[in-house]
Amino acid sequence: MLPPLPTSAPISTEARLAYVLRHFRQAYAEVPEVSIGYAHQQPQVEIVDGAGDFFSRQNPYPPTPTSREWQDQVLPVFFDLNPEQPLLELLPANRARINADLISAAFYLLSGWQEYFSNERDQHGRFPYTASVQHRYGFVAVPVVNYYFDILKTAIEHVAGQSLQPRRWINEAPFATFITHDIDALHSAWKAPAKAALHRGNLLRFGKLLWQRFLKSDTWDNLELVQKTVAGYDAKSTFFLLPEHRRASNGTPNADYKLAATALQWRFKALVKHGGEVAVHGSIGTSVDQQHLVREQAQMPASASGNRFHYLSWEPRRTPAVVVEAGFAYDSTLGFAEHFGFRNSYCLPFRPFDFTQGRACTFLEIPLNVMDATLHHPNYLQLAPHEILPALLPMFQEIERFGGVCTLLWHNDHFDPANETTGPRQFAELMQYLRSRNTAFVNGRDILQELGNRS
Ligand SMILES: [Zn+2]
Repeated sequence: MLPPLPTSAPISTEARLAYVLRHFRQAYAEVPEVSIGYAHQQPQVEIVDGAGDFFSRQNPYPPTPTSREWQDQVLPVFFDLNPEQPLLELLPANRARINADLISAAFYLLSGWQEYFSNERDQHGRFPYTASVQHRYGFVAVPVVNYYFDILKTAIEHVAGQSLQPRRWINEAPFATFITHDIDALHSAWKAPAKAALHRGNLLRFGKLLWQRFLKSDTWDNLELVQKTVAGYDAKSTFFLLPEHRRASNGTPNADYKLAATALQWRFKALVKHGGEVAVHGSIGTSVDQQHLVREQAQMPASASGNRFHYLSWEPRRTPAVVVEAGFAYDSTLGFAEHFGFRNSYCLPFRPFDFTQGRACTFLEIPLNVMDATLHHPNYLQLAPHEILPALLPMFQEIERFGGVCTLLWHNDHFDPANETTGPRQFAELMQYLRSRNTAFVNGRDILQELGNRS
């Protein structure tokens, strides 16, 4: 059931400003000391206040955004009370004014305000994409907060008389790519064809499949193949391991393998030795149960600083505290299962907002941009194989433009050659494109090193 909203103090203007500017400073290589704030602070870059009492109430949705054009992109601008005025005014004497409240708008999207205050949850307890402003106003594949920052950057460049560059990655790469694999199943490739054979009454075929299962290993038992395939693109794999093999109390399946099995522990240790990273794939229920999550963490074959919840479970009112208390340095759950894009409208790792304390959480969220199942699934999108890259291309270009991180989830079972919709061929196509753009392939630890220690 949905946890009640805690009674906490309203989020102050100062807290919102500090949260947003902290992320702004991390998005660019070097930001000169320029004062940014509302009129009463008499800053060099003045933001016109447009939020009214929105942040002292508990409404999940702000008034309808305006549409503004910025660098050939039409942007939704929340808290924009002066649409007849230019968005940005570059003033004499090293001053600038932004006529929409971009600080409040950025805070609203980045903090996940909508999901925290919304009562909408789907059958898995998740905030549904259809309830989001990204869906309502059609901007899920546009990192709107990065565009807000671009406007702020232009104001600062005018005031400081110097240009700002987006952050660069390892070897001056223009953006980074984080390749991840949630390991839900290692032994179940035979099940679907066997079920189909049984359904058709083809007992001979059924018996043959069953027999094969005992004689040789399953097609999905392919961890080494996955690592080798990814390494073929000079990229590295991060494996999210699911320590729970029993079904959840509501019947939702967890792992089809036992992580504690000695042979499997050794295989994962070998993957780590060959440059792989392991992280926790918190089972159903752990997103609201810190002790359960800690117990799962203890089963890992090697030290794990990251987590992603199975089924992308995330209860906005509870989960950030669970991740903090379990001591993870990063999480990579926040994407919409139903659609690729930017759940918090931001293409860089960020610190989720702690609404009870009124400040940033201690862990880094590496937002999830696209998972295989989203692209072709009865409940999600139904893209044909040749439509996948063209559909994702604009999103990749946005990430590159802002020096962000592209997080891709390709489950190990989607490396099965029998998968012709979101399988190894579609993965190869995406990897070839990303490599052709000179991305830096990174894992969670690399990202922490780049961004984790900076405040
Ligand atoms: Zn999973």
